[in-house]
Order: sequence, then structure tokens, then C-alpha cells
Amino acid sequence: MARPWNFSAGPSALPEPVLRQAAEEMLDWHGSGMSVMEMSHRGKQFVQICDEAEQDLRDLLAVPDDYAVMFMQGGATAENAIVPLNLIGRRGAAAADYVLTGQWSVKSHKEASKYGDVAIAASSGTEVQLDGKAQKAWTWVPPVESWKVRKNAAYLHFCSNETIGGVEFTDWPTAARLGVDDVPLVVDASSHFLSRPMDIGRTGMVYAGAQKNAGPAGVTVVVVRRDLIGHALPICPAAFDYANVAPEHSRYNTPPTYAIYIAGLVFKWIKAQGGVAAMERASIAKAELLYGYLDSTAFYRNPVHVPVRSRMNVPFILADESLNEAFLKGADEAGLTQLKGHKSVGGMRASIYNAVPLQAVQALVAYMQDFERRHG
Ligand SMILES: *Cc1c(COP(=O)(O)O)cnc(C)c1O
Repeated sequence: MARPWNFSAGPSALPEPVLRQAAEEMLDWHGSGMSVMEMSHRGKQFVQICDEAEQDLRDLLAVPDDYAVMFMQGGATAENAIVPLNLIGRRGAAAADYVLTGQWSVKSHKEASKYGDVAIAASSGTEVQLDGKAQKAWTWVPPVESWKVRKNAAYLHFCSNETIGGVEFTDWPTAARLGVDDVPLVVDASSHFLSRPMDIGRTGMVYAGAQKNAGPAGVTVVVVRRDLIGHALPICPAAFDYANVAPEHSRYNTPPTYAIYIAGLVFKWIKAQGGVAAMERASIAKAELLYGYLDSTAFYRNPVHVPVRSRMNVPFILADESLNEAFLKGADEAGLTQLKGHKSVGGMRASIYNAVPLQAVQALVAYMQDFERRHG
């Protein structure tokens, strides 16, 4: 059985050695006679798995000691509520500011609005007509100097990689550059987590659903500066209160044990490849190959402002959209799967996460060139 090259935006490709190791260990983890799924989350075997996963993640991102690392549930969508539930009350005013750069940050902002006085610090949404309907296109990032951050905001939220629009923002501002003190950055890094070094110390917290680039669905990685913990609103569910989860090292209640185990294997795989710096080098090579080809032809087009093009999620449009179906059908036949774009933007999208090798992108570009020759 040949595995196709999988360009899914998430849940997405996992490193094959991780899947093989999980298969080998399925019935008997390290001589325990048990599958990881069958272990007590408080037993010494799972505690070792969970603590090693936490330590490996700390090593990969050089997470400073004054940050808690938690494995939680509910995905990044649940964090959209869990973040304000934990943080918005920390300065009394229950105010928070959001930067909008695409559909995920819009969702975060909407959810947070249930919990306090939530404002838009900046937005890059541009009105366009798509399929005869007025919609917003998201193709750039407002310059930091234009962000309007309120002095009493409990935090400032943004999404550092918009998975749908393919907009990646890596120049995370410092407090000095924002012109405010004590407004920590809260970053949804779901879809480029572990694809590059990240300066955690510049942020108040970073969160990421694992199923894009760090593991299977079911576990959310949450990294929070410890002094921000302990100010949850009284309505915050106990299982989602960082003050409960952090001191218990993610074992306040039963965590998603198997998902944590697989994510832990992914962390070890990244370490063995040379860490996030190696992931970044590979990502640059893959992204340059694909964008280089897209920019060399009028047959395909990527609409994103060049400096903020995502290295992970590459949306592209065929100049003749009536060829979309033929493109996808031929791609499947060539062993290139899950290239259909998000329904809201149409066209195609290639997600080229850590587990998608350069060889897959080479195969994609070769297919795109061939398709252009036959239809251009
Ligand atoms: C996928 C994604 C989400 C939502 O993740 P769920 O696990 O479905 O809740 C949120 N933000 C970003 C940037 C994403 O890519």
C-alpha cells in the first residue's frame, strides 16, 4: 500500500516513523503489557510519557521556566473561550483587544466577546465579491504601528498563522513597540507551531491545537506565563482553569492520554531531525519551491502579500476556475491528496507541514507543471 502525499490542513500528515513506532508499541508499551490507551493517567508509565512530552516540548521551544506547559482538550476553538475565561479578569476591567487577520482570529474575537469588553485593535479584512456575495479577503497583516491597544486591556490576541488565508505573521511585537506596558500577547499558533523557533518570552501565552503540526487531534498545547495564571472568572469550568491544570502537569482530570503520547513521539522525532531550526530550514526550502513556481506562471496565483505568505498553508487559484475539478481529480490519481481549498476561499490549498517532505512538494510542482502544459 502506497501512502499518498497528504496536503491536508488538519488533521494532517504525521511523520511515518512516528506511526510505525506507535504501531509497534500498540499492544505492549515498553514491556508494560498494556497499550498506552489502557493505562491509568496517574500510573508511573503514563506519568513518564506525559512528563517527557512536556520536557521535550520545553527543550524544542526553549520555554523559559516561568512558563507553564499544559496539554488540554477542546482544540484551539475551545481556547477561544478558555483564554478570556482565564485572563480577561486579571486587571479588573475585563477588557481585551484582538488583531484580525483572517477567519481564525475573527472566530477568536467573536467568542471572547461573550466574556467582556472586547475590541478590535486592527484588521486587514478587505471587502471583495466572491461567488456574487460580499465577503472579506484576508491577504496581509496590519503594520504593528497601526494597532490600537488599550492601556487597560488584559491581553492582546492575534493568530500568527491564518490557516485558511495562508497569512503568517512572524514579527511578534515587543511591549515597547506596542507602546503599552502589561498587555501580554496571546498567540494562536496552531498551524505553524514547531515549524520554526518562536520567542515564547515575548508573549504572555501561546496555544496550538496539535492536529496541524504537532500530533493528532484531541490535544491542545498551551504555554502560559505563570504570573498570568490564577485570575480566572468565577464561571470558568474547573477543568479549563489553568490554575488547576498547570500545577498538576496536565493531569488535573483525565487528559487525552493517547494523543499526548503521539504528540510526544512527534516531539522526539523533531528533536532527532535537529529541532525546530531544522524544521524551519526544511520549511523554507519547501515554501520557496512552491511559491517560486506559483510566481513563475500566470496559470496559478497566490493572492497573499509576499512578506506574510505562510510557509505552512499555501492557497492558490487556477486562472481558469472551470479546471478546478479536473485539477483535483488528476492530483488524486497522481497520489496527491487533500488539495481542495477551504470552502470560503475556493481554489486549492497545499498545507506543507513538518511531516510533508520536500519530495511531496516536488511531486506537487511536477504535477502542476504537467497540468499547466496540458491545459494552459
Ligand atoms: C484549526 C485551527 C483552529 C481550530 O482548531 P480546532 O482544533 O478545530 O478547534 C484555530 N485556529 C487555527 C489557527 C487553526 O488552524
